[in-house]
Amino acid sequence: MSGTLFDLQQYFEQVNQTHFDGFLEAPVLRWNSRLRSSAGRFIPGSRKFWKELPPVIEIATYLQREERAHELILDTMAHEMIHYWLWVRRKPFGHTGDFLKKMREMGVSRYNPVPRLRPFRYVYGCSCCQKEFPAKRELGVLACAHCCKAHANGRFDSRFRLQLLRHLTREEGLKLIHERV
Ligand SMILES: [Zn+2]
Ligand SMILES: [Zn+2]
Repeated sequence: MSGTLFDLQQYFEQVNQTHFDGFLEAPVLRWNSRLRSSAGRFIPGSRKFWKELPPVIEIATYLQREERAHELILDTMAHEMIHYWLWVRRKPFGHTGDFLKKMREMGVSRYNPVPRLRPFRYVYGCSCCQKEFPAKRELGVLACAHCCKAHANGRFDSRFRLQLLRHLTREEGLKLIHERV
């Protein structure tokens, strides 16, 4: 048993029993603290007899610190296990039609596990042009570039200083990121 609160073996077994009739053998399961661009990954093994390598499922360590850690880890594990399951059955194991079909059957919510994103936390606005600017941290003294250009020869003018309009909840901040990327 590992000392961590989040035991990958347990997540694997839970998904295995619920969605794969307990039929899957556990691959190598490990945390990866360098994984940033995705929440998890599946590394196929090698079946060559002169170079046998076990398949691996890696889960990004940062998920442990997320608010809904348990749910995210379980979801990511389920996603990677579909890749693994296809590989075990010697099928193409990318995001294929079979992958999507299984994903829908399982009710796994994400096509791609969430990458680590910092949510926007504030919305600033320009009282002149009414444009809104989401920000991830508190901005110092900044003015609306558009209005300074249009009305002040491009120089900073405090009339167009950005005003803090509102704070965003974490959910709102993350939603904004997905809309803008
Ligand atoms: Zn995937
Ligand atoms: Zn403006």
